[in-house]
Amino acid sequence: MADCIFCKIANKEADAKFIFEDETVIAIRDLSPKAPEHILIIPKKHIGSINDFTDSDKDLMAHIMVDVIPKIANDLKIDKSGFRVVINTGEDGGQTVNHLHIHLLGGRSLTWPPG
Ligand code: AMP
Ligand code: ZN
Repeated sequence: MADCIFCKIANKEADAKFIFEDETVIAIRDLSPKAPEHILIIPKKHIGSINDFTDSDKDLMAHIMVDVIPKIANDLKIDKSGFRVVINTGEDGGQTVNHLHIHLLGGRSLTWPPG
């Protein structure tokens, strides 16, 4: 989608170092990290938010949850210590980039509830 920063990054039209890439997903470090490890897992396909999911996204999201997140957590060695997965959605959810992305945060003890 035009003027979408995460589409541009996924299409390699904007600079970013991928820490993970496969056919459907990339992962990059967040520009403004909120934890020692703060990774954004981004579908290459433009999906605005959870509100825009269709049935055709089920395999993609299962792949992210079952394959990609555990692999990255393991690679970063935060699988045993623990981590948090967050999808901010819409205005009240604090979503600022309207291309679905999953935050993976770890490397410190995270408080609850979020603000
Ligand atoms: P959200 O507020 O959930 O929409 O998260 C968007 C996140 O994207 C924020 O944590 C930003 O710091 C991060 N971000 C925005 N632009 C970039 C970029 N070019 N590279 C890496 N992270 C970015
Ligand atoms: Zn996009």
